[in-house]
Amino acid sequence: MSFDRSMARCSFCGRHSSDVRRMIAGPGAAYICDDCLQLCNDILRDPAPFSPKALELASRPPVVVAAPPLGQERTENAGSREPLRTVTLELEQKQQGMTLILHRILYYQDFFEIQYLWIRPPFTAGFAFVPRIIFFLKDNTGTQWTGDRGGMILARPDLASGPNNAVYQGTARFRPRPATEANTLTIRAADPLGQFEALPPQPWQFEITLS
Ligand SMILES: [Zn+2]
Repeated sequence: MSFDRSMARCSFCGRHSSDVRRMIAGPGAAYICDDCLQLCNDILRDPAPFSPKALELASRPPVVVAAPPLGQERTENAGSREPLRTVTLELEQKQQGMTLILHRILYYQDFFEIQYLWIRPPFTAGFAFVPRIIFFLKDNTGTQWTGDRGGMILARPDLASGPNNAVYQGTARFRPRPATEANTLTIRAADPLGQFEALPPQPWQFEITLS
């Protein structure tokens, strides 16, 4: 894909080349500025999976620099691949006025997905951020996964019980699948925007048995 580099914007903060000291070019239209690189270094030095800086970075709105090449937008979702196995969870946890429901786990050939519903007060109009949940998974053998945060969360007004509550449906994808010797999975999830609220929320935590 050709790309006019004079239009370069940092993929992490959206600033243009003229607004930063250094800009490092990655493949295609990906760039990172010196400030965001420093932030990433700080995150690497902090062992906590939900450190405030990591959550702040993850909660930023996506920087749209260029449309994907024609014909390649939907390759990831092309066709309706059937999962090899589906396990219904229906686990629900409330926390500070928000509820996270883990609906199902779907196992595919080389990855697995968690389908979830997130019930919370509605976002105010003009809200600048894309709502999302960040996942952190660990099984009893020590394998860890962090969630795919690229997927959009879908608003599901049809599931909301009233104007003071909004329901969002999302899917988090992880690879590879858990090893056959893994028998328990700890699923932690956090709302990265919660850090802007008066009482920062604790991550939700679920323990599930893998069968
Ligand atoms: Zn930046």
